[in-house]
Amino acid sequence: MSKSPPILQRFDPAGERRRVGRVFLVGAGPGDPELLTLRAARLLAQADAVVYDHLVGSGILELVRKGAELVYAGKEKCRHTLPQDEINALIVRLARQGKQVVRLKGGDPFIFGRGGEEAETLAEEGIDFEIVPGITAASGVSCYAGIPLTHRDYAQSCVFATGHLKDDSLNLDWDNLARPRQTVVIYMGLGALPEISRQLIAHGRMPDVPAAVVEQGTTHSQRVVTGTLASIPERVAEQALKSPCLIIIGEVVALQQKLQWFDAGAQEAPKRAVSA
Ligand code: SAH
Repeated sequence: MSKSPPILQRFDPAGERRRVGRVFLVGAGPGDPELLTLRAARLLAQADAVVYDHLVGSGILELVRKGAELVYAGKEKCRHTLPQDEINALIVRLARQGKQVVRLKGGDPFIFGRGGEEAETLAEEGIDFEIVPGITAASGVSCYAGIPLTHRDYAQSCVFATGHLKDDSLNLDWDNLARPRQTVVIYMGLGALPEISRQLIAHGRMPDVPAAVVEQGTTHSQRVVTGTLASIPERVAEQALKSPCLIIIGEVVALQQKLQWFDAGAQEAPKRAVSA
């Protein structure tokens, strides 16, 4: 007898015992694998499929269960491997196959990570999902660079903005960003740095306010370039910094010299011994 066609298999009583798929939108942190949450590490060790972005480093992918399906979703300016709607369709498809899917995203899934859009798709498609926060670049990178985002003497507020250019222009609330005693953290702003510097000065931020750009923060390739709001574009160009870079502007950056502690060039610390 010939095998049942696939459509009938779906109604097979065995199907009822099949696991129900679920998607975990997981933040992988800014780079250093030690900054993963315990929950993220446990989910990676149990996943059937992991769909990851380019900002997720190899040290983190090593924690994925052997035998799990690994799918690179890309997402780098000008180098999209999968458009967002295909990523959405892919995670839905994997979950419908009954898989435990980890959608692994750099930093925190809900901060400039399109996690909101992916969660909306899952909700609309009736797929179970959970969201696991991660350490966002602003938080992780500033700590490793020795720049406190707030400080009683220097900044009473902190704002995160995206410097991603849309149609070659930046449409930010410059009056708000230029306020004094506020730290401004800009994601995806490397290409627009000269424009950011110009606009903030034009809207009243002092040209001599300290500014930093951190390349590949929290990793052993971390580089920190500091200057003033006026000088930072030129300094960054001199050093030829490349993405991913985080821009931090505000009086708090003056503390960087005193508080820098992370020696990116040092050999990786030996794995911490676990006493028996
Ligand atoms: N969801 C992520 C942000 C994704 S947008 C988060 O919460 O961190 C990508 C941007 O984040 C990069 O262009 C860069 O501005 C910043 N970024 C992420 N990781 C970084 C790192 N290790 N060092 C410097 N900037 C980083």
